[in-house]
Amino acid sequence: MGQTPDRQCVLVVDDSEDIHQLVGARLKTEQLALLHAYDADQALEMARKDRPDLILLDLDMPGTDGLTLCHIIKGEDGLKHIPIIFLTGTLDVKTKVKAFELGAVDYVTKPFDAIELKARVRAALRTKRYQDLLANKAQIDALTGLWDRGYLDEQLSAEIALQQRSGHHVSLLMLDIDHFKPINDSYGHPFGDLVIQQVARVIGRISRESDAVCRYGGEEFCLILRNTATDGAVLLADRIRKEVAALSFSADKETIAITISIGVSGSDTLEGPAALSEQLLINAADKALYVAKSNGRDRVEVA
Ligand code: GH3
Ligand code: MG
Ligand code: MG
Repeated sequence: MGQTPDRQCVLVVDDSEDIHQLVGARLKTEQLALLHAYDADQALEMARKDRPDLILLDLDMPGTDGLTLCHIIKGEDGLKHIPIIFLTGTLDVKTKVKAFELGAVDYVTKPFDAIELKARVRAALRTKRYQDLLANKAQIDALTGLWDRGYLDEQLSAEIALQQRSGHHVSLLMLDIDHFKPINDSYGHPFGDLVIQQVARVIGRISRESDAVCRYGGEEFCLILRNTATDGAVLLADRIRKEVAALSFSADKETIAITISIGVSGSDTLEGPAALSEQLLINAADKALYVAKSNGRDRVEVA
């Protein structure tokens, strides 16, 4: 359902080339992207541009030292959530305490042991991963675990900006469960919720990692298909339609099947003088969905 975490990125800050080489060698097996900075200014610039998931920071550097840089990073909104591990040659307790007070999460003493460095880096990155997940949680729909509408809006405008820069196609599916109201009315709202959850699961399972799968509201879902032209979107829509129709639900002593209707719009087939926009794509998919409903439901229509 979209958003696989990418390779995590670690920024190494040290004035000594030897340390960069050593860290690189020690972390080689960790599937990380490494960035290298040799002084505080360069580090700050890279941190702002690349937003690393972790900073390994030398305490003793000429010019702005590690403690000062840590203080700057922890004071800047876009950067303060990045964990910092100090690299230090000193065992001096006062300095370490100072580093923790400034917001460092850990330290490694040089010359460092490969296993220890890996373990500390892993622990810090694991925590960072959870932090990122929690920060995103506000955008997750509680009933289905899919993305919510706010996330959809965000992603759609990003995707359209990309489409306009690069010409990559983007398609949209608008899905709506057919005759859902009578299901709620006959079997109760909790049963209706269960149906919504199962449909969400099917959509999540069939779609690609790169698709953004959202609950649009009530019993409606919306999918952004990145880098996908209309014909591909129609194929996916029809697979979803068939798999949903194949679900069966037990209610009271009956077995119930449901269907969904799907409207498709794609950047490659939308015609008209207006430039592609979020509203244009959504309206077109919505209209197609309406046509699918009036043509008998359980079908896919293209804008
Ligand atoms: P159509 O085939 O035209 O889509 O008919 P429909 O009955 O599905 O359409 P309508 O949009 O009129 O009804 C949607 C219903 O979905 C109405 C509302 O009670 C129900 N609903 C909306 N949100 C939820 C929810 O979170 N849980 C449950 N169980 N029902 C919901
Ligand atoms: Mg509806
Ligand atoms: Mg409906």
